[in-house]
Amino acid sequence: MTHRVKSLRFRLTISYVLIFGLFLTAIGFTFRSRLMTIIQDRVEEAVDEDWGAARGFLRVERGQAIWQVDPREMDQTLFLERLRRFVMVADSQGEVLEMSNGYRLQGVESAAEIRARFKEGSARLVVKEQGKDRVLLRFGVFRSEGKLYLLGVGRRMTDVGGLPNAFMTDYFTALPLLLLLTFVLGWFMAGRALMPVNRLAEAAQRISGSSLHLRIPQRFANDELDQLIVAFNKMMERLSENFEQIRRFSTDVSHELRTPLTGIRGQLEVALMTAKSEEEFREAIINALEDVDRISNIVRALLLLSQAETGQLALQRQPVNVTEVVEELVEQFRASAKEEGLRLNSELQPDVYILGDRTQMDRLVTNLLANALKYTPRGGHVDVAVRLDGASAVITVTDDGKGIPRESLPHIFDRFYRVPGEDPDKGLGLGLSFVNWIVKAHEGHMEVSSEVGLGTSFTITLPASADARTPESSIRLAEARQ
Ligand code: ADP
Repeated sequence: MTHRVKSLRFRLTISYVLIFGLFLTAIGFTFRSRLMTIIQDRVEEAVDEDWGAARGFLRVERGQAIWQVDPREMDQTLFLERLRRFVMVADSQGEVLEMSNGYRLQGVESAAEIRARFKEGSARLVVKEQGKDRVLLRFGVFRSEGKLYLLGVGRRMTDVGGLPNAFMTDYFTALPLLLLLTFVLGWFMAGRALMPVNRLAEAAQRISGSSLHLRIPQRFANDELDQLIVAFNKMMERLSENFEQIRRFSTDVSHELRTPLTGIRGQLEVALMTAKSEEEFREAIINALEDVDRISNIVRALLLLSQAETGQLALQRQPVNVTEVVEELVEQFRASAKEEGLRLNSELQPDVYILGDRTQMDRLVTNLLANALKYTPRGGHVDVAVRLDGASAVITVTDDGKGIPRESLPHIFDRFYRVPGEDPDKGLGLGLSFVNWIVKAHEGHMEVSSEVGLGTSFTITLPASADARTPESSIRLAEARQ
């Protein structure tokens, strides 16, 4: 992990350097060409001015080019000297009247070429190259003594490339240094940015089954990494809850299975050592079988519950008349309630519908009713009600039995939980776990209120079906299904 983060850091840094390097190179070349253009423009302007000045000093007399300056003006003399370094004067026939040495070195035109220049007219710029030397020449036609002549004036262009090239040399010498600096800075910045990721990795590495409580401290920067940390911590929370549940579950299962298994073993051992008659053996086997039954009940219930909780037990949703379900079950339980000396009352609002699984609704109500009857002593009451409350179907099962101690209330939905001291033969402690799952699977919720010695009340609230059907239409639906 650390290695990966490091390589990510390296990749980030290299990306910075590459992007920055590309930018700088592009900027360098753009500047160079811009600089060249500016300088070239300047030379062109200057050569234009030179031509104008030369034209001012020049006149042609009897086929002779004559340069006229005021000899007292030192500046003018010097200026003219410089001007005449690249100069050429010719007549319309292509006959050269004057040509400086500098001009000659750059290559001499033929008479035809000079005549062609005449035709091109005035203000024409030409670059002449001779080896390393580049000269920009400006040609133009002028009139003297009523005749037309061609005047060419030039300037060295060698300097045009000089400055940009010097700039490029300096710039590209400094570039590696700049890139090295970018690398160092980028390395530092990428390291800083990836630090929380490193911490996350370290924390993840420290976490094992026994340290699932570990959380990564948040940075409160409210950025992507904080979101990652929050998501990671939430995942840890869920994992640790699941882990804890599994741990508790396996302890509970082994505990629950051990009791009947020890029972079976004890009974069989005693029978083996002490039983003499067939009758005594029979009795031992019957007792052992009862415990075997208990074990298979536990295993069956557990299997169902785990299927339910892992989502393998899918709900078969359809409109269910809750009133009908409760009514039928109340009738079923009536006989056993009477036997136990209990009064079973029901107050049922007709046709309360939900969109749910009929079998699971049966299981839910059965569990609640069975508990109420189990934990209410002789002479007690059990009241069942179904009503529609706004958009909710509400089922309540209330008894005036022994009640549930306050400290046990938060645990009654846990698997295998029984109120301490409760007779283990009364149940497996799994009924309410089922109830809990069924309510959740139907997007409902449940409340329990209980007072020791006064009784217990369970209230289940489920979303009522939006299209609560009339009895006729539900009959039609039932018929259609058959
Ligand atoms: P069991 O199969 O043991 O009834 P449940 O999960 O249905 O398991 O219930 C968990 C425990 O909650 C029971 O063992 C019992 O102690 C308590 N309990 C449930 N319903 C009632 C009730 N109506 N009155 C008193 N105690 C109850």
